[in-house]
Amino acid sequence: MKCRQCQQSAVIKMERHNTSLCRGCFNLYVHDQVERAITEEKMFDRAESVLVAVSGGKDSLALWDVLIKLGYRTAGLHLNLGINDYSQISQEKVEAFAESRGTELIVHAYQEAYGLGVIEIAEETARPACSACGTMKRYHFNRIAMERGFPVVATGHNLDDEASRLLGNVLQWQEEYLEKQSPVLSDEGGTWARKVKPLFRLAEREAAAYAVLNRIDYIVDECPMSKGAKMLVYKDVLNRLEETSPGTKHRFYLGFLKRPRALPSGPKELHLHPCQSCGQPTPGEVCGFCRLMQRVAR
Ligand code: SF4
Ligand code: ZN
Repeated sequence: MKCRQCQQSAVIKMERHNTSLCRGCFNLYVHDQVERAITEEKMFDRAESVLVAVSGGKDSLALWDVLIKLGYRTAGLHLNLGINDYSQISQEKVEAFAESRGTELIVHAYQEAYGLGVIEIAEETARPACSACGTMKRYHFNRIAMERGFPVVATGHNLDDEASRLLGNVLQWQEEYLEKQSPVLSDEGGTWARKVKPLFRLAEREAAAYAVLNRIDYIVDECPMSKGAKMLVYKDVLNRLEETSPGTKHRFYLGFLKRPRALPSGPKELHLHPCQSCGQPTPGEVCGFCRLMQRVAR
């Protein structure tokens, strides 16, 4: 198998682009896709500092690596969820990566901060683990970015993540979520950090191949709480469709983005004000995170 660009030995075949690439040309392809996502979606520019949310998995570490190589100003943020060995190994992978690149890393550990990990917090509040985890992640990404002066938070969501989320939202007709499903979420005039997903043009296997080919040491195990998640079922369905019709995920998600973003009802105004408990912006009186922690304290 030869590289379509330079005729050297190819390392990856990409059916959806009907091409095969060698390591060097594949790296250029990945960098180009990320740069294109950043500029076309106006995610950020080189003057802005980007806080990269790094879990220790392939996607977020690949994203951080690409942003560093493209010359963006970055620091990493790792949330230690307090899930036994999984969280410990994840943190070690992130720390080793940051040290090898000489980049700043902020670590926030739930166990140290609240005396409980995410599973215990979910149990105490009778919430599904991933729902409590989502509330906590969104809160900390935003709060830490604002406190440390980062206008942008980047996450490692890839094309498979976004296409499967879109499929789930369409199947349930979650119009409110569909409105918000975009690779860029506004900073609401500087009230919040802008949330961006620069890997949204890259398939999961491309992000994984990039991590392996660039010798990025990531945690291979998935979070133990992800077992049985609906999202994995949607991913599996899309993978089967992709096999018979390469490019399905790309056409599905990028086609969705090309459509007019606002639904007929129009985007809702948020009317944000400071949370009565922590001061972070929220549309309610008390933010979701503080409501969660109040239930833990009861
Ligand atoms: Fe959090 Fe793990 Fe659930 Fe992902 S799978 S949302 S990391 S608890
Ligand atoms: Zn609050």
